[in-house]
Amino acid sequence: MGLESDLEHLLSAWPGVAQQLKAARHILLLTDYDGTLTPIVERPELANLPENTRRLLQALARQRRLTLGVISGRALSDLKNKVNISDIIYAGNHGLEIEGPGVRFINPLAQEIRPIIRILYRLLSQALYRIRGTIVEDKGLTLSVHYRLVERDKTKEVKEIVERSVGGAQAMGIVKTTPGKEVYEVRPDVNWDKGKAVKLLMKKYGKGGRMSGLLPLYLGDDLTDEDGFAAIQKYGGISVFVGEAKQNTAAGYYLKSPAEVVQFLGMLLEAQKRSQ
Ligand SMILES: [Mg+2]
Repeated sequence: MGLESDLEHLLSAWPGVAQQLKAARHILLLTDYDGTLTPIVERPELANLPENTRRLLQALARQRRLTLGVISGRALSDLKNKVNISDIIYAGNHGLEIEGPGVRFINPLAQEIRPIIRILYRLLSQALYRIRGTIVEDKGLTLSVHYRLVERDKTKEVKEIVERSVGGAQAMGIVKTTPGKEVYEVRPDVNWDKGKAVKLLMKKYGKGGRMSGLLPLYLGDDLTDEDGFAAIQKYGGISVFVGEAKQNTAAGYYLKSPAEVVQFLGMLLEAQKRSQ
C-alpha cells in the first residue's frame, strides 16, 4: 500500500466529492496562497491574485454554508493585502498568526522569539548581500531566504551561509529551517504548523470533531502544507495537493495547477448556490 495509489484527480472524482460537500452542514474551505491560488513567480511580491480568482473567492465567502480561510507562509499583513477580501480568515506565517471573524491568535512563544528572528534577518541580509539574486524577506515572526533568481552554481553557497548563520540558534532549539520551493524558511522552533492552525480553526468553528457536520477542505502545494493535509485527514475532510500527482503526500486528491484550482472553485460555487 502507499498513499500515492489513493491520490485521485479532484476534477475526475468530482461527483463523489460533490455528494460529500452536499451532505456537510457547513464547509471550512482553507487554501494556501502562493503556488495554489497564484502561479509561482520569480519574486514573491509579484505574486498577485488574479481578479477573477478574487471574485470567485469573494462569492464563495458569501455563501451561507461556507467559511473561507487563506493560510500561508507570508506575514499576516502581507497576505491580507494580497488577498484583499474582508470578513474571511487569514492565517499568516504558517499559522503562527491568525485573524478572522471571532478569532485572533498569535503564538506566544513565536512572539518571544521575534527579536532573534530580527537579528538573524540582519545577519543573513549582510551575509547574502554579495550573492546576486537572493532575497531575504523579513516576515516578523519568521523570515525567508528566496534563491529562485540565484545562478545555479551559487545555490550551494546560499545553503551554506544559511546553515552557518542560523546554526547557533538552531542548535539551541530556538529556530528551525525548512526548505520550500527555492526558499528556506527560518521559523521559531515551536510546536506549531499549518496542521495545528487547522485544528485551532476546527475547534473554533466546528466544536472539534466531524460530528459537528463541519467539513474541512484544504488546498496547498508545498511541504509546509503536508501538516495541513494530515490534520484534514483526521477530520475526514478533503485535502488537495496542487501540482502533478506525486508520491509522498498526505493529501487525498490533487489538482494539476492553480488554473485547475480556479476551475474547482467555480464548480464548488455552483454546487453551493444550488444547495442553498
Ligand atoms: Mg504555496
